[in-house]
Amino acid sequence: MKRLAIPRAKKRLGQNFLIDDYVVAQIIQLIKPQHTDHIIEIGPGTGALTDLLVRTKAEITAIEVDRDLARNLLEHYANIATFKLHNSDIMNFDLGSLREQSTEWKIIGNLPYNIATPLIMNLVTHGSLWSEMIFMLQKEVALRLTAKAGARSYGRLSIMAQRQAHISYKFEVNAASFSPQPKVQSAVIRFQPIDDKKNPEIDVYFEKIVRLAFATRRKTLANSLKSLIPTDVIKHAEIDPKSRAENLTIAEYERLALKTLEVLGH
Ligand code: SAM
Repeated sequence: MKRLAIPRAKKRLGQNFLIDDYVVAQIIQLIKPQHTDHIIEIGPGTGALTDLLVRTKAEITAIEVDRDLARNLLEHYANIATFKLHNSDIMNFDLGSLREQSTEWKIIGNLPYNIATPLIMNLVTHGSLWSEMIFMLQKEVALRLTAKAGARSYGRLSIMAQRQAHISYKFEVNAASFSPQPKVQSAVIRFQPIDDKKNPEIDVYFEKIVRLAFATRRKTLANSLKSLIPTDVIKHAEIDPKSRAENLTIAEYERLALKTLEVLGH
């Protein structure tokens, strides 16, 4: 099938189209599309990834906000019965409506960089909808999403996202692989659901503690959390009150939230 032409890019929609077939193949290789799959593609653009996805005969649901691109895609794939397109903004899209069709969606996208973080934070809370997600986004955000305790990029985003999903860093993509070239480096990451999310009752404290701890990340926890938690409670959770926000693992934040709930109640 002939490829769609690359149009003049709309910057406000984060349009950087992939033009590197090797990178396209690498991304598709990660998701390993099968004809039995249900796949959501976010921002298909000019179909760089879509072309390979439709060939597998998987059920494809694409969500593209740009009206011109959506029209081109609908024309281009008019004969493909397994291809469906919503000309919608993914940020306003009712994701729950997709659950009727499958709860094992594979979600893929070379994401518009301006919405990547809020979109991912929303998708990780819909863990019962998908079995795998593969995204390309700014390298800096990819590093933050996958960072472990003690790493330079470790922060609130790493913790809040990794509490909801297993996230792994796959590979980097150079600006030269896109048209137009973005100003930043990109990277591909993979999400897998966490089956046994523990203690949802601690969610509120967990969020508050992480937020407070990182608001003053250079301070000791005893100091940064003092408006919420007495130092004794930190000790009872078997956490050193002199440690700093970036040194605690997610399991330790969970332990601290649980102890806080036990002592302070709801
Ligand atoms: N998938 C194509 C590729 O790899 O070449 C295009 C990727 S481009 C980085 C991002 C795409 O997302 C563009 O097609 C853009 O129009 C679309 N997009 C931007 N904001 C969107 C939104 N809020 N909802 C759905 N699509 C969006």
